[in-house]
Amino acid sequence: MSKGLPKRSEDYSLWYNELVKRADLAENSAVRGCMVIKPYGYSIWEKMQAELDRMFKETGHTNAYFPLFIPKSYLSKEASHVEGFAKECAVVTHYRLKNSEDGKGVVVDPDAKLEEELIVRPTSETVIWSTYKNWIQSYRDLPLLVNQWANVVRWEMRTRLFLRTTEFLWQEGHTAHASKEEAIAETVQMMNVYAQFAEEFMALPVVKGVKSENERFAGAEDTYCIEALMQDGKALQAGTSHFLGQNFAKAFDVKFATKEGGLDHVWGTSWGVSTRLMGALIMAHSDDNGLVLPPKLAPIQVVIVPIYKGEEELQKISEKAHDIMKQLRRVGITVKFDDRDTHKPGWKFAEYELKGVPLRIAMGPRDLENNTVELARRDTLTKSTLSLEGISITDYILDLLDEIQATIYSKALNFRTEMTSEANSWEEFQEILESKGGFIAAHWDGTTETEEKIKELTKATIRCIPIDAKEEEGACILTGKPSNKRVLFARAY
Ligand code: AMP
Repeated sequence: MSKGLPKRSEDYSLWYNELVKRADLAENSAVRGCMVIKPYGYSIWEKMQAELDRMFKETGHTNAYFPLFIPKSYLSKEASHVEGFAKECAVVTHYRLKNSEDGKGVVVDPDAKLEEELIVRPTSETVIWSTYKNWIQSYRDLPLLVNQWANVVRWEMRTRLFLRTTEFLWQEGHTAHASKEEAIAETVQMMNVYAQFAEEFMALPVVKGVKSENERFAGAEDTYCIEALMQDGKALQAGTSHFLGQNFAKAFDVKFATKEGGLDHVWGTSWGVSTRLMGALIMAHSDDNGLVLPPKLAPIQVVIVPIYKGEEELQKISEKAHDIMKQLRRVGITVKFDDRDTHKPGWKFAEYELKGVPLRIAMGPRDLENNTVELARRDTLTKSTLSLEGISITDYILDLLDEIQATIYSKALNFRTEMTSEANSWEEFQEILESKGGFIAAHWDGTTETEEKIKELTKATIRCIPIDAKEEEGACILTGKPSNKRVLFARAY
């Protein structure tokens, strides 16, 4: 294998980019800002999708699919929505190419100009609400709880594999309700679903909160979010859930006959998480040796590597390995037996370390004699010898995978606790930002003007107003004006 990864402490950004490439997760493509998600990376995304999809269905949602192209006129129907997205839109103007006059290539055929230009969806509220107009007539049609798995395009200027790409994969939920209360409850529910997914599956502690007006989704009344902390002390918005009020219903004239016999606009929500979660997963847990994957999302949970000299030894080890594999698979553990003779065990060890396989089992001739195996944990990089005498290997490994999952979570939680500070003055705020970064809980006067000024001076933004922020009298760190709760600041991706 090639030389080691750059160290996180030396160049975090380079470490991340190299890790994404070397662990075979993704690579850049010919189009700037677009990425190829490689099979190993895609299998992690598939695991995320499967769990999220299950959670969406358990909360009553069903999947549908809406078109990639949106008529330009739709986008402008909701004023703040178009204002928010206009700068990032890819636009289709023509539908045909023709041979160029010099015969050397093709050019856009000017005769094939579209009557109405099409936007490649940056998000689907407009196309979905234009459809909902036909689906919703009465309170009996509500609530409408739909999700779609799709790709979207936002013409981003500064891109980064997974974290911010021009095209990304995501899910977007779009729901319609008969009352404001019900729509808000849905918005909060989906933020909670995201938080639960992040914590239980990604082993990623998150802060649940509400965005300030400035950071709100274009077209929403309120944006709820989950915010996570990466190992370099920068925050990452990991998921958002928007309460849309009646904005899109009004823009697309979606009304329903109420139970009471009246006519009212429908209340809406939308919520999404994207392939950015892959970036969060990598940045939150991995180390200088490579990926560290929580077992619940690892494409391979256990790898068995035989250590042998000659065919005969391999034969004996293989028999035992296959037996163990069969047992583990029976209880739902994903196992790989790597008996390739093209690579040495040491090479394989390093490879699976790089790929973040949570547990490695090595078996040599002495293990066969003693009825033992060698176990190596990826999260702690510790090795131990396990005697198989009188134990159930499946129970043992299931428990161990749970323990690894819990250890990865508590490590991330401890880190976040250490990296969350309170600042009570402007000097203190700046000092913490420069010396350690992380989340800073501080008072803010509630104005966009102050928020922007703080951003301009320090690059720190308000990540959220935490749901559980307690009421507390204080003074804004910048203006000294009164504030009644602390908000969470950080430099962010
Ligand atoms: P939004 O529709 O802006 O609320 O974004 C929905 C989700 O997509 C959020 O979880 C964002 O963090 C994520 N997201 C937004 N822009 C990008 C991007 N360029 N690349 C990857 N994920 C993104």
